Amino acid sequence: MKVLVLGAGIIGATTAYHLAEAGHQVVVLDRQSGPGLETSFANGGQISPCHAEPWANPGVLPKVLKWLGREDAPLLFRWNRFDPALWAWGLRFLSNCTRDRAVLNTERTLRIALYSRDCLRDLRQRLTLDYDQRTQGILHVYRSAREFDQGCRAAELMNRFGLDRQIQDRSQCVALEPALSAVGPELAGGILTPGDESGDAHKFTRAMADHAARRGAQFRYGTTVTHLLTDGERVTGAATDQGDIKADSVVLALGSWSPLLSRPAGIRLPIVPAKGYSITLAADGPAAPTLSITDDEHKMVYSRLGDRLRAAGTAEMAGYDPSLNERRWRLIASHARALFPGAGDFDHVEPWAGLRPVTPDSVPLIGPTRLRGLWLNTGHGTLGWTMACGSARLLSQLMDGKSPDIDPAGLGIGRFRIPL
Ligand SMILES: Cc1cc2nc3c(=O)[nH]c(=O)nc-3n(C[C@H](O)[C@H](O)[C@H](O)COP(=O)(O)OP(=O)(O)OC[C@H]3O[C@@H](n4cnc5c(N)ncnc54)[C@H](O)[C@@H]3O)c2cc1C
Repeated sequence: MKVLVLGAGIIGATTAYHLAEAGHQVVVLDRQSGPGLETSFANGGQISPCHAEPWANPGVLPKVLKWLGREDAPLLFRWNRFDPALWAWGLRFLSNCTRDRAVLNTERTLRIALYSRDCLRDLRQRLTLDYDQRTQGILHVYRSAREFDQGCRAAELMNRFGLDRQIQDRSQCVALEPALSAVGPELAGGILTPGDESGDAHKFTRAMADHAARRGAQFRYGTTVTHLLTDGERVTGAATDQGDIKADSVVLALGSWSPLLSRPAGIRLPIVPAKGYSITLAADGPAAPTLSITDDEHKMVYSRLGDRLRAAGTAEMAGYDPSLNERRWRLIASHARALFPGAGDFDHVEPWAGLRPVTPDSVPLIGPTRLRGLWLNTGHGTLGWTMACGSARLLSQLMDGKSPDIDPAGLGIGRFRIPL
């Protein structure tokens, strides 16, 4: 079967690999000059099923109200525009803020995230993959006893769903990561997820694109998709600025831009962009962490990528504006400096911003649509690196009509009861 994969981010490149491995004729289209140059470029680097708690949960609303209008808020909604898609998304987000929905969405996220971590390990066994990987686990740290308590309850739920998470006291946190010693006395505690990992998502995306190409996938960069080609109730290819390309099936892996392409074909996807920032700096010596760390209070993550330290965080719902707001990235740098004061030169960092494709329930969209031949692998929000390998393998099994390794129930567009 000839398959067009739209998008060569971490999701598209990994999907292309699995489809090519399954024997399909794969063509990947991306407007950029290479793989992984948009949201998959400089993310937090964590492979983190431990972050399966959805944004929409009963505890988030008081926090969002407290953060309203604050430029230094970890989660910033800019509602002062008339954007029907954002408002519709917001209503769905609110309806997911109950305890029961949060438990359901945690289970769905963990199902795909844990599977994905296994798939990544399997790929590492089979392929040469070099992406500054570290497999020491991820440590969440907390300064506030209240937040720590809430984190422990979320960890208990995840333990029940099969993710091993271990409560640590302050001195255990510092023993696990000596670079935390400067803030050690302020810590209320931590939670270690020993099976979680970290690594450079962009290097991984490039490696997967190379492996896919070795299996025959064709990558056409510098190609902007303008719309989907359809014939009645089936998709027949994609129109691009380089001409039309016909295919038997099309996979939408355009991250935040997926709804823009699907809407004219009658498929409304509840995905909005949530801008986040990262900084990368040269890091060496014992003051720079090697264990991947999450600072839950500031919603910040830290990953050691070879001789670099990456710090990432904040989310801003402000449409498709990719520009770098200096105040926001400097905030990331100042949080990083406060946690790891001697880790490197925080006055010379590489700032970056990317648009996370977020769904209202934090669960991605993987599977078929009502347009025959059009498949989704998108909406991975804050966890695209975490879920990439599993999402790609699951989608390729579904497209081939094989019995999938995990239950796909609740991972598709059908859960939103939008007319497919
Ligand atoms: C600050 C930040 C930190 C993050 N940290 C983590 C983390 O630690 N762990 C984790 O798991 N996830 C993290 N994420 C999330 C993760 O980066 C994303 O979920 C993931 O990169 C999404 O991948 P994607 O392939 O769906 O989208 P993208 O990487 O954006 O790929 C989409 C591709 O589509 C192409 N495209 C779009 N429109 C068109 C068009 N019309 N024609 C042709 N091409 C087009 C783009 O060029 C792009 O290459 C983070 C995100 C951010 C912003």
